Amino acid sequence: MNLGDNAGSLPGGPGGTRNENAFRIRGGSNQRGQARTLCGWIRREIGPYTPLHFVRFYPSHRMMDVPPAPSEVMEAHCEVAKKAGLHYAYIANSPGHKRENTYCPKCGKTVIARFGYEITNWDLDKQNRCKTCGYRIPIAGGVVIPISSLTSAARRILPDTAHLRD
Ligand SMILES: [Zn+2]
Repeated sequence: MNLGDNAGSLPGGPGGTRNENAFRIRGGSNQRGQARTLCGWIRREIGPYTPLHFVRFYPSHRMMDVPPAPSEVMEAHCEVAKKAGLHYAYIANSPGHKRENTYCPKCGKTVIARFGYEITNWDLDKQNRCKTCGYRIPIAGGVVIPISSLTSAARRILPDTAHLRD
């Protein structure tokens, strides 16, 4: 990891909320130290509300000789992020893992549940506040209703959706 090179490639300035996964923590004995440096830098330079996705490696294509990243390592990275003061650290590329979800930083309730790229539950009000405690989650946008959940009548009034994934 080279924060200097990566820092120069960050879009925009500090203070915004955006997804950052442009950093790579390489294998080796000092992974946790690299994660600590990365998380501290993000907290200090961008802010505590910056979503950070630790993307789990799985062997594929020409890298079949490298084992998958252990879940325990990914979870340890998320704990490092939490201790550094980052409120939204995730494990990506690990469908079904609890760290795919968004938790309310105030009450700890799951406010957005995910499975892979799918949102399986949305527990925020229209102002993106936690329905349990009212804490506002600083995100933009909202949930998109999956085509499969629409009634057949609703599907008939939509334009051709054959290209959309259910
Ligand atoms: Zn809450």
